[in-house]
Amino acid sequence: MQFPRIPPHTGSPPAANAQANEVKTRSSAKSQRRFDKQLFEAGQQCQKRLYLDYHDPVEEPESESRRVMSETGKQLLQLAKSAFARGAEVEGTTLEAAAKKTTELLASGTVFALFGAAFVAEGVEVRSDILVRQKDGSLDIFEVKSGTKVKGRYLTDLALQALTIERAGHKVRGIYVLYLDKTYKHAGGEEYTPKGLIKSADVTERVRRILPRVDEQLQSFMRQVTDDSVLELPTGTFCAAPFPCPHLARCSKQEAEFPLRLLPDLTRDLERELHEEGIADFSQLDQARASLTFRQRRTLQAAAEGSLLKEPFVKEELQQVEFPLHFLSIATATEALPRFQNQKPWQPVPYAWACETVTEGGKVTHASFAHADKDDPRPQFAQTLGKHLNSGGMMILWDADSLESIRLLLESLPTEKQAIRATLARPHLDLRRLLESGLFHPKLLANRDLASTAHVLCGIAQPTDKEVTDEDSALRALQKAATPRIRAATKEKLASEIKDWVQRQSSMMHAIYRTLSERTAAAAQEEEQKPAKKTVGPRKQLPPTPVEE
Ligand code: SF4
Repeated sequence: MQFPRIPPHTGSPPAANAQANEVKTRSSAKSQRRFDKQLFEAGQQCQKRLYLDYHDPVEEPESESRRVMSETGKQLLQLAKSAFARGAEVEGTTLEAAAKKTTELLASGTVFALFGAAFVAEGVEVRSDILVRQKDGSLDIFEVKSGTKVKGRYLTDLALQALTIERAGHKVRGIYVLYLDKTYKHAGGEEYTPKGLIKSADVTERVRRILPRVDEQLQSFMRQVTDDSVLELPTGTFCAAPFPCPHLARCSKQEAEFPLRLLPDLTRDLERELHEEGIADFSQLDQARASLTFRQRRTLQAAAEGSLLKEPFVKEELQQVEFPLHFLSIATATEALPRFQNQKPWQPVPYAWACETVTEGGKVTHASFAHADKDDPRPQFAQTLGKHLNSGGMMILWDADSLESIRLLLESLPTEKQAIRATLARPHLDLRRLLESGLFHPKLLANRDLASTAHVLCGIAQPTDKEVTDEDSALRALQKAATPRIRAATKEKLASEIKDWVQRQSSMMHAIYRTLSERTAAAAQEEEQKPAKKTVGPRKQLPPTPVEE
């Protein structure tokens, strides 16, 4: 996202100068970089990110999910390449060597397809996943992507490739995206065939249409890397989209106490408007400002008062629960390439659950399940959960979207339909949505999650001595459990760590419920002591959570 520049200034501010000198001192030792796909993407996210990536890139610690994605990308590329006969891998230890080899191979006319062809022209370098040479010497570009639809950023990536390849003296004939077919159903096992799994889209015209804009952006990005004043730019919602920026730890040190990016329901238009007005701290906003949403006004009020604000409908919702209450936490793993029978690309696979069940009389029981192995966790997951919920009552979930992974099993796991239907038939309460709509606190902003909510409301701190503490560490445990020749005892230990993690989430939900129920009970007592009692009306709709296009 390109953001307006900060309010007009003449020359770089002193703070920007000091930062720029520090960054450039580190940068000067390195050779000048050519522009590539990564820098172009950085420029599209934020001018400051482009500057920092160019002069002072940071090493991103590799998360397990990124590592798995990268492995999947390689696997998919191999699969796509297998559909091209007479293809040659472009070797070369440096990009220059690979570009030289590409030129030689194309000139020789002996190969039909090149894998990893490299080109350098006018300060830009690109590599193509698959390049096909036609008889007349013109080229078709194929880009392999693990998404299930053609996204705008795929097109800009291809436009950059087409521009550079043509500037290097070649004619581009056709441009294609190879991506995953979302309707593909896996037969099971580790074998895939490109036909059925991979779809091809001819995007030649779409890419040609955006070429002038991409070229303009490229020229502008090339100028921007010399502009130190961008170091003064504020953070924004773009810091997390389309991917989390690696410079956030550094940039957040310069942020106001209540940065705009943490205001709930912030649309791009409002964000732009506020930046133009020079507002970087949302606590400076007037609560009466037109166009603010209900949640924004209440968040501003909570920040101004420094206290917790609770809407009456939170109490009403909590009074209408149906015992026994099942505080249910579900863990799913999502991978681009399906592994199990009838699974589709990117379909989440539920592999663990934990439930803290509470009767109306206050009796608490615990149950959990975790499958840490290479084989299919879904049948046991569905059976054990269906059986546990047989006692009736209501499910309390942190995010009811997690039920979607169970609903999808109806189609992909027909043998367990009965257990799946039994689970889906239970009424449920989405605790996250309820609290996001009706609970406001200066420390519960747009980035709130279960752990931060449990910390603010109940004082629960996250353990520091556990192996599995989040989705990424759970995925690492799962990957480890699926490695060949791993000992049964190690697998059991990993399953137990995963169970422990989902169990903690379930306990946090119960603690939040208990805290709020105690507060609502105290409030109800006060209410009863008043002379005229108010009657509780019909169940209200929660205020909608705006979704930005
Ligand atoms: S954290 Fe945000 S403001 Fe800082 S460089 Fe990244 S995208 Fe830009």
